[in-house]
Amino acid sequence: MPAETRLFRCLSDNYGVLLHDPESGATAAIDAPEAGPIEAALKETGWKLTDILVTHHHADHTGGIQALKDKYKCRVVAPAAEADKIPGVDLTVREGDKVTVGKLTANVIETPGHTSGHIAYWFHGDKLAFVGDTLFAIGCGRVIEGTPGMMWRSLLKLRDLPDDTKIYCGHEYTAANIKFAKTIEPDNKALAAREAQTAQQLAKGEPTIPVTIGEEKLANPFLRADVPEVAAGIGMAGKEPSQVFTEIRARKNKF
Ligand code: ZN
Ligand code: FE
Repeated sequence: MPAETRLFRCLSDNYGVLLHDPESGATAAIDAPEAGPIEAALKETGWKLTDILVTHHHADHTGGIQALKDKYKCRVVAPAAEADKIPGVDLTVREGDKVTVGKLTANVIETPGHTSGHIAYWFHGDKLAFVGDTLFAIGCGRVIEGTPGMMWRSLLKLRDLPDDTKIYCGHEYTAANIKFAKTIEPDNKALAAREAQTAQQLAKGEPTIPVTIGEEKLANPFLRADVPEVAAGIGMAGKEPSQVFTEIRARKNKF
């Protein structure tokens, strides 16, 4: 049976999401920004929390873990490299490990850059990937603990997922990301289409995620650092993609 998801807002601009396996009844929260909205989503769906899958150690992804674990006795899965910074960890995982939520299975993909141990969970059977603060709709996370080169390699791993993979990221930053992306690729038609779509979604109070890898490849400048026209457009024709990425990321930091 296909997985079901429930997406909702937490804190100021975080997303919370529940992943539910209808066959076994298992339900995972992907990250736990805060307990209240996650408990509200559990109440609305009638699902019982069995797991929390953590992408990275930042407080806006882990602040709700302890309260949820105390209440639901759920299992906490976290990146091995950051387990000492995350409360209540039961299982640590690395690149290539598999994590199950009932009958659903995720591959763990290490995506360092935003933090040095950041991971993503790819549920290939359900064409879903939970990418935390590595890839955003039309954007990418700030490089806080790693290097831009590291972040570029992490983004390439996510870009390599099948085009129809649905991406759930950690924040609603899409409108601001599009404003910046237009400074890199002012004539990108796919980006213009995403701008119109995003404005409509936000006007209706709808989330702008999930997005697919295929859509992001066409419009997200951070996934396009190896497109010759993108490099040329910012005066970096012929430069290494990781250098082009580094420049785009630096411009976004100042934007
Ligand atoms: Zn973060
Ligand atoms: Fe975050």
